[in-house]
Amino acid sequence: MPRRAFRIFVELEGMYRNIVEQLVLYAVNNGITKFTRLRAEKYRELRSLYPQLPSHYAYTACQDAAERAHSFLRMRKMGRARKPYPEVRSVSIWLDDHLWRAEGLTSISITTHKGRLRVSIELNKHFLRYVNRGWRLATEAKVKLDRRERRLTLYLTFKKEVSEYRPKGYITVDVNEDAEAVLIDGIVYLLETGLSRVTLGYYYRRKRVQEKYDGVYGPGSRPERKIFKRLGSNERALKREIRWKLATLIVREAAKRQAAIVLERLGKEPAKNMIERIKDPQLRYRIFQAAFKGIQKAIEEKAREYGVPVIYVDPRNTSRVCPIHGAEIIYGKDRHGVCSKGGEMWHRDVAACYNLLLRALGGDGGSAPSHMRAFVAVDGGPVPLGPTAAHEPIRISRSLWARWRSLRGREEAQGGKEVK
Ligand SMILES: [Zn+2]
Repeated sequence: MPRRAFRIFVELEGMYRNIVEQLVLYAVNNGITKFTRLRAEKYRELRSLYPQLPSHYAYTACQDAAERAHSFLRMRKMGRARKPYPEVRSVSIWLDDHLWRAEGLTSISITTHKGRLRVSIELNKHFLRYVNRGWRLATEAKVKLDRRERRLTLYLTFKKEVSEYRPKGYITVDVNEDAEAVLIDGIVYLLETGLSRVTLGYYYRRKRVQEKYDGVYGPGSRPERKIFKRLGSNERALKREIRWKLATLIVREAAKRQAAIVLERLGKEPAKNMIERIKDPQLRYRIFQAAFKGIQKAIEEKAREYGVPVIYVDPRNTSRVCPIHGAEIIYGKDRHGVCSKGGEMWHRDVAACYNLLLRALGGDGGSAPSHMRAFVAVDGGPVPLGPTAAHEPIRISRSLWARWRSLRGREEAQGGKEVK
């Protein structure tokens, strides 16, 4: 932006920040978490304190502050607030329909204390993707100042009327550190991601760089930091690409079948039993973020884009119990085990996928009720009873699935001899 125009936004942000700071303090002191109450008690005062500011900023600042107060009070209640009072650190200016307006696709205008300002905008791919899918812009927006580049970042909200479909089926996803097991139409696909290997690979590369450079330049030198930065951004980009491609593949399959996606409900702490062999807690956290949290987030966002519902179920013991008999599966090596009651073979990820499905069918997210288990098995329903073949997942390497647009596409590509 031109320097002069940007200056106005800096002033605006300053005023807005002051208002939000005051409001948050007041809200927390008085236990207010509702925007309407905060507005009722402070609006008049704000108007007389900032007469030059368009009145709708008093509204949006109240909304902003009420949300901050609400989350702070909740954190304090849980004993997780770090400070006795909330800190207003990063600020984005909240706008409502009176404060901004799109002027075609090339610029917007924003109302400020110096009148209406027109700002030219640059759309990104993400924006166009949503518009193409039939999403419409909501009236609220947020603006953040980027002082270094002297530009504004505009955060928009899209909305869409969705007819929430009653799922006709379920696609269950069991996430592991290096692969994703996906149950579609009675077949478990094991889509390899290699995410923990990516994390570990970069970790060791960083270590090698550190050892080499520390010896020459001493710790924390500039060339070392430069290499770290590059490695970090490469790592992030690669992981992001893996996650998005995988999420897109799964969500597309769900949308095609009008199915819901079933995911494990993950806790906040790194899933210890899944990656406990990693001793370094930071490394364990990073693997968890990349392989578990990150994949789920990507699936959630893609699912929203396509209007596919996501269901969460209790992940406890999903691979330890036989989906047919409810008895313990005794595992040997190679992720293979034998049901202690029926004696049939199970692959760990296949058992997990079917148990997630049972829990989703059970509806309560807890363990599937026993009648459901019996029903499914007797009915010849979703659980395969064949002694061997169906218990083995179809393993697909990343180099393969990353090039597919759908799991069906490969049947045609390979002459229909696969899968069925
Ligand atoms: Zn069994």
